[in-house]
Amino acid sequence: MKTRDAFAHSYASARKRFFDAAQARGLPVESFKHRLPGLHKETLAMDVVLDGAPDAERLLVVSSGVHGVEGFCGSGIQVLALNDKELSERARERGVALLYIHAVNPYGFSHVRRVTHENVDLNRNFHDFSEPLPVNVGYRALHSLLLPKKWPPTLGNVAKIAWIFLTQNKRAVQAAVSAGQYEFADGLFFGGTQATWSNQTLRTVVRKYATQARHIAWIDLHTGLGPTGKGERILSARNDPDGLADAKNLWGDAVTSFFDDSTVSSNVSGAMLEAIRQECAQADFNAISIEFGTVPIKQVLQAMRAEQWLQLNPRTSLRKAQRIKRQLLDAFFIDTDEWKEQVAAQAREALLQTVAGIGTV
Ligand SMILES: [Zn+2]
Repeated sequence: MKTRDAFAHSYASARKRFFDAAQARGLPVESFKHRLPGLHKETLAMDVVLDGAPDAERLLVVSSGVHGVEGFCGSGIQVLALNDKELSERARERGVALLYIHAVNPYGFSHVRRVTHENVDLNRNFHDFSEPLPVNVGYRALHSLLLPKKWPPTLGNVAKIAWIFLTQNKRAVQAAVSAGQYEFADGLFFGGTQATWSNQTLRTVVRKYATQARHIAWIDLHTGLGPTGKGERILSARNDPDGLADAKNLWGDAVTSFFDDSTVSSNVSGAMLEAIRQECAQADFNAISIEFGTVPIKQVLQAMRAEQWLQLNPRTSLRKAQRIKRQLLDAFFIDTDEWKEQVAAQAREALLQTVAGIGTV
């Protein structure tokens, strides 16, 4: 399969490619349907394919679309992996089952949003909601500046935000914006006040497919942070020195983490894979997110602000709305053969590495 043919331009065609790839291998797809329709009235679902024995002790999970629109990249990687004979043969030889979870947040994928239909950033939503939620004072101060009444923003708004980035610690500002907030349901990086559909459904999938494995390695595919085309491997569960050491044994010294300040990402609250690890207490559990770079972070943030503004101002002209959606897609997916080849090669390397190393660290 040509690399470029694995990547789709709509959720519906991404889902079809995933089904076709599974069918070509004779693998069944289990679909967990979402109650809302997609952008073009298509069915939305979290689709799951197991390539390997249901009772395999070693399980490699590959998930896409946790952040909706980022699924355009992750889905293509999953389709390529399903088509990759060498990968599945090596996995079989080592007794590793591969579990593909396609479109963890299918609503955002289809509607070209990063968040769920609840306006929730899924990777900030995995809290124990019976406990008090974190308070992000930094975001509170920025909310109305990030989402002004007018878009494009006025010169005054641009100047105020530029001043904040100029005079305050950049990492601290990034954390205030993106670490997660639980106060503004119409804001950016909102973590929700209850478990979303995707949260509950992913737990169902994990309980069904992953609670028999003794060794679990999880690769969660993301885009939008870091240099164009470069895949950063970010520690995403067991965020402590031992977890980092194990992750480096499995995925190499390039694994980064927030606690040693080596990653482009903020320390997010309510992170998905740390919570999922609790569901798999029987297994040793290692997880990374691979974050593929697209465009500069300022451009990504600008695209997210515009799209959130559009959400709050639905009577915007169709042309302007389409431009804003295009901008968001372009911030999370680079539609060139070069970029697709880059991300495909790095993902493949990580998958082969995991198959070879799982259960030995
Ligand atoms: Zn992401």
